[in-house]
Amino acid sequence: MSKTFPADAVLEAWQAGQVDFGESRQQEGSAKVAELPEGIRWHFIGGLQRNKVRKVLQDFDVLHSVDSLKLASHIDRIAGELQLKPEVYLEVNLAGEASKGGFGPEELSGVLQQLVEMENLSVNGLMAIPPAVGQAEDARPWFRLARELRDRLEDGQGVSLPGLSMGMSGDFEVAIEEGATIVRVGSSIFGDREVSA
Ligand SMILES: *Cc1c(COP(=O)(O)O)cnc(C)c1O
Repeated sequence: MSKTFPADAVLEAWQAGQVDFGESRQQEGSAKVAELPEGIRWHFIGGLQRNKVRKVLQDFDVLHSVDSLKLASHIDRIAGELQLKPEVYLEVNLAGEASKGGFGPEELSGVLQQLVEMENLSVNGLMAIPPAVGQAEDARPWFRLARELRDRLEDGQGVSLPGLSMGMSGDFEVAIEEGATIVRVGSSIFGDREVSA
């Protein structure tokens, strides 16, 4: 996650071999996309307003924060207009936290078929941001829950959801042990953030 870090820092990491970078704000991210090498694979992970969808689709390769059927339909429509088929992750709100977006597990089960049938979306899997915990080990049950939900959806609905986007600087090792296929690590790579994001 390169959010809040300057384009120079991304370039340095790219030159060291890192290809995937994540941003959580469209304007900040798009500015970096415009400035940095073509080969970078850009991930968008943040609150996605409808009026930003077109720009996000133009600039980013992967969207991790698809958190409602309505937003997914909108992305599907705009992606069709742009003749794109972005890879997306469905955000799940495992603990039912009011402060976070995401599908409730039951809700997701009810709309999954509609989501995977959208013509211009390639649904790769689930994304989870567990509740803040004191220690990495305390996040393990949440990561496990995400994987179990994924397994249950795959078995029950005959869909393929290989991707599990979970784990940040403080807990990515635990997330990987529990099945994460992509971790979102920011400060462990780039250093502490000066501003909160
Ligand atoms: C910023 C951010 C991260 C990375 O956080 P670090 O603690 O810097 O690794 C991961 N996931 C999301 C959704 C973020 O916004």
